[in-house]
Amino acid sequence: MSGLWGKPTNINNVETWANVPLIINNGADWYVSIGTERSKGTKILSLVGKVNNTGLVEVPMGVTLRDIIYNIGGGIPRGKKFKAVQSGGPSGGCIPEELLHLPVDFGELTKVGSMMGSGGLIVIDEDTCMVDLARYFLNFLSQGSCGMCIPCREGIKRMIEILSDITEGRGKESDIELLQELAEVVRDTSLCALGGTAPNPVLTTLRYFGEEYEAHIKEKRCPTGVCRALISPDIRH
Ligand code: SF4
Repeated sequence: MSGLWGKPTNINNVETWANVPLIINNGADWYVSIGTERSKGTKILSLVGKVNNTGLVEVPMGVTLRDIIYNIGGGIPRGKKFKAVQSGGPSGGCIPEELLHLPVDFGELTKVGSMMGSGGLIVIDEDTCMVDLARYFLNFLSQGSCGMCIPCREGIKRMIEILSDITEGRGKESDIELLQELAEVVRDTSLCALGGTAPNPVLTTLRYFGEEYEAHIKEKRCPTGVCRALISPDIRH
């Protein structure tokens, strides 16, 4: 085996290339008969996290998140409650239970603040702290920032600082507004897609799980008990 002109060859977007012979053999009409109005064909998703059946699944575009998580994924292990699903990799958004009817396609995921991205679907159960989760993903993304533009280079770091303050009991009420504003500025002014999408975990957890931020800041309480700094020992004799 060798690549183009007998040389080693890097092929990106293997998933797209894999569709080409099928389209040539079966015709374009066959291909566009699968999927939704704006997103055609099938999509390979990486189903991971708090779900019984993990792995790569290929589904027609337009299948609902609920179908993927419950019918293909077999639901949440150990009888735990579903909390959210993060689509698109680390810079995707966290989608709550009330949106599980959402058909998976490029446009629908973007509308709710997430994206198809890498095709990752991370299922999150009731034991996960959404503030801590946002901090975790931003930490990961900050390491991918090349540092060329200020909004991404500095903005992600500032957001991590604020999220750390909140999870460690130093959160202030003004932090929520500041975090929202900062996330929007980083999203709207970064040069490339990394900075443009990195705020998604923050923006969606603020939008769908705002009450968890409030509990950390106002009551100095982590509803899931994940944030250790907010656990106060209650020793009774
Ligand atoms: S947005 Fe892109 S170009 Fe700007 S610092 Fe981040 S990774 Fe670099």
